[in-house]
Amino acid sequence: MNIVTTFEGVRNSRSGIVGLVPTMGYLHEGHLSLMRAARGEADTVVASVFVNPLQFGEGEDLDRYPRDLDRDAELAEKAGVDVLFAPSVEEMYPIEPVMRVTVGHLGDHMCGAFRPGHFEGVATVVAKLFAGIQPDVAFFGRKDAQQLVVLERLAADLSFPVRVVGCPIVREPDGVAMSSRNVYLSQEERTSARALSRGLARAVDAVASGERSAEVLVGEVSDECRATPGVDVQYIELVDTQNLQPIDVLDTDAILAIAAYVGSTRLIDNAHFWVGDHVTWELGGS
Ligand code: AMP
Repeated sequence: MNIVTTFEGVRNSRSGIVGLVPTMGYLHEGHLSLMRAARGEADTVVASVFVNPLQFGEGEDLDRYPRDLDRDAELAEKAGVDVLFAPSVEEMYPIEPVMRVTVGHLGDHMCGAFRPGHFEGVATVVAKLFAGIQPDVAFFGRKDAQQLVVLERLAADLSFPVRVVGCPIVREPDGVAMSSRNVYLSQEERTSARALSRGLARAVDAVASGERSAEVLVGEVSDECRATPGVDVQYIELVDTQNLQPIDVLDTDAILAIAAYVGSTRLIDNAHFWVGDHVTWELGGS
């Protein structure tokens, strides 16, 4: 595996079909599942590790975000990555950028409502990765459901010749969605964190029993979280997958998403629903 720090270095190491897996590092099984998916489809698998200042708001965890590039390199190599791109902030932003990709109404709800500028920062850095690396296919987790929709529209609206692939959420055995931020949790908080996936599982059970009301489905997640000490819900929303707008009834493809603080750590999780003749769903797993 090549470790490179410049866009030019990546372009010099690529051949055939190029698969890209953008990450902020401190890799876990969720990231590695994307790298394995890329390995299955691409001749050259490029993974990037970059903690992007543009997507962090004031008072967020940019400075304390966990970093360990040596460990990441070891894990990425085992997962089949050919090129690990670990640019400095100076390589990514040689001059103070004035251009931004805006995300319109896709940023109105869910995390977009609570993290102003976040998705502009994400879309901008991914646009730079698409332009600088020129991948054929890029892999993202459904863990970050709003981000995935934003990036699908980034590729479509700005004509990047990149196929964007979404992959299932990878969970710890107790259901908690894997996240680099889980290291912030104390033992007690880690136990409380289970409420998010438990609540989503309750909502999925309700859908399986025929429930379609957003209010009831949101209520299932909310009840579970409210019954768990130490969980402070920021939002729970059922939104359509196309435009990320709240819906009252589950009659179209949708995402049931939650963000909650457990102690000072902000966690997100979701379940996806696909509505055809029957409703199918995905909560992910280990
Ligand atoms: P991050 O390093 O948190 O920016 O995540 C990099 C990529 O990994 C994004 O596409 C995430 O959606 C994905 N990812 C993070 N956690 C998980 C998970 N538990 N399961 C699946 N994908 C994940």
